[in-house]
Amino acid sequence: MDKKTHSFQAEVKQVLHLVTHSLYSNKEIFLRELVSNASDACDKLRFEALDNAALFEDAPNLEVRVSFDAEARTLTIRDNGIGMSADEAIAHLGTIAKSGTREFMDKLEGDQKKDASLIGQFGVGFYSGFIVADRMTVETRRAGLPADQGVRWSSEGTGDFEVETITLPERGTAVTLHLREGEEEFLKTWRLKSVISKYSDHISLPILMRKEEWNAEKAESTVTDEWETVNKAAALWTRSKSEITEEQYAEFYKQISYDTEAPLAYTHNRVEGRSEYTQLLFIPAKAPFDLWNRDKRGGVKLYVKRVFIMDDAEALMPVYLRFVKGVIDSADLPLNVSRELLQESRDVKVIREGSTKRVLAMLEDLAENQAEKYTAFWKDFGSVLKEGIGEDHQNQERLAKLLRFASTHADEGVSLADYVSRMKEGQEPIYYITADTLAAAKNSPQLEIFRKKGIEVLLLTDRVDEWMLSHLFEFDGKQLQSVAKGAVDLGSLQDDEEKKKAEEVATAFKPVLDRLKESLKARAKDVRVTTRLVDSPACIVVEEGDVSGHLARLLKQAGQQAPTGLPTLEVNADHALVKKLDGSAHFDDLAQVLFDQAVLAEGGHLEDPAAYVRRINALLVG
Ligand code: ADP
Ligand code: MG
Repeated sequence: MDKKTHSFQAEVKQVLHLVTHSLYSNKEIFLRELVSNASDACDKLRFEALDNAALFEDAPNLEVRVSFDAEARTLTIRDNGIGMSADEAIAHLGTIAKSGTREFMDKLEGDQKKDASLIGQFGVGFYSGFIVADRMTVETRRAGLPADQGVRWSSEGTGDFEVETITLPERGTAVTLHLREGEEEFLKTWRLKSVISKYSDHISLPILMRKEEWNAEKAESTVTDEWETVNKAAALWTRSKSEITEEQYAEFYKQISYDTEAPLAYTHNRVEGRSEYTQLLFIPAKAPFDLWNRDKRGGVKLYVKRVFIMDDAEALMPVYLRFVKGVIDSADLPLNVSRELLQESRDVKVIREGSTKRVLAMLEDLAENQAEKYTAFWKDFGSVLKEGIGEDHQNQERLAKLLRFASTHADEGVSLADYVSRMKEGQEPIYYITADTLAAAKNSPQLEIFRKKGIEVLLLTDRVDEWMLSHLFEFDGKQLQSVAKGAVDLGSLQDDEEKKKAEEVATAFKPVLDRLKESLKARAKDVRVTTRLVDSPACIVVEEGDVSGHLARLLKQAGQQAPTGLPTLEVNADHALVKKLDGSAHFDDLAQVLFDQAVLAEGGHLEDPAAYVRRINALLVG
């Protein structure tokens, strides 16, 4: 193929501009990105060669070589990995295949600190070479293609790039950077070595550089022809814990997760027995921007006997632990395992169960011994962990202990165990209320009697709470009960005198109640007298087993059919407004207003707000 000029995809041009301008303060990361691409290319070759050993040609030892030419001002990163065909070079080095480019650019353009890890996260690492280079040349030949199918790709990193066919006897890729004026530091062995050991020690491939020797005559060191390995070249998780420092764990985590912060916690274990594997799992300190995206990249990487098999092997972790990052290296799985096979494998099931337990143990440890960290964890990941209550019955009890809520006692951090320890003498269930916001929950009329009696109520305002509670019925032998569902039965929390008085009130109120039922028959399934209200005249309740108003609103927002069953209205016979009903000339208006207000107090919407206003005005004018 003759030399041909191609234009970068529009997004690439924008990314190039941003990367070279915003990431300058962190420019050394270009080397990390290019070495990581070289290492990926070797992983890919190893993987493809499982089915086709001929791809190794005569060079089965995979490695990366970093060299420079001080006079020509070039730096070259060469690997003997999978390489690229001409079509692949055009596609991979001229377009951005992954979604999320827009988000990436927004983040870089934003005011926050320019986050260098982002470029790896969004799959645009290659372009970081242009931070320090005004021209990049890539010479590459794909494994398995003949020598005359080599490719030279070259660009100044602005509008376009050139591609031509060349002869390349060696398989793999050499990326050469023509350094900009002022970037001479990357033409020095010590500087390159220090960047490599900072970012790439854990890479299991050897990274080689030419040895330097002290030249006494010139009184400086000179580069020899001999190559030496400059990284540790042992996959971090294969080394023993005692040899690994906190910093090394953190650096490894940052590399695999593209996070800028150190992890909140990690666990590193070699498991032997029915299934043999090593796990190195991390909990991030902050939620990634795409936590809610169920098909995001990342997660747990699967290796089999040190050979990289796949990223984000979802079968290795339950979905509700999708924020966990790390590596699992199995000694039992076949090397050619596919995603489909993983789903069915018994070994994988054992690994998943074991890893889940490890993560839960890590969280329990945080909750018990590092409360501050656990609070931070809960803030970012609590809603995701709650999914586990419904999805992982085996660990439901352990998960329930990890839950944290707001309550009438404290605005956050209330565990079910805390709640139980504060239960009143004679209190049987654990009481909760669901609402759209904490303020709505706190001010709910349903809480009045509980406040008066000093009984704690959990305030649940998370979208998943209602769903979660449809899977969690009890904790520590105590039932979970909504204070907005069914008639309140405070059981032995109410003394006999109170109960007797309530019954008397209900009997005396019966005639009014019957008229109320008649007035509201199109809106309420039932109207009854309640003792749950202290300051409010009325409240809406749904029957046990019915969908709450809160959930009905969530369903509606999500565009789903919300069930249309009628609620029950409960009235406080002691309230002045309710007392006024008896004998009122505006009985029907008052009844409707009572109902409307109960709907509003619960955070609901009126179907006919204008009618409500009209009635109120009529009543005000009297
Ligand atoms: P990412 O590594 O996240 O995919 P990059 O911008 O770093 O994004 O690289 C883009 C693509 O270019 C890679 O996915 C790969 O297909 C190709 N590529 C880059 N470097 C090499 C290399 N050394 N050998 C083979 N392919 C490479
Ligand atoms: Mg990359």
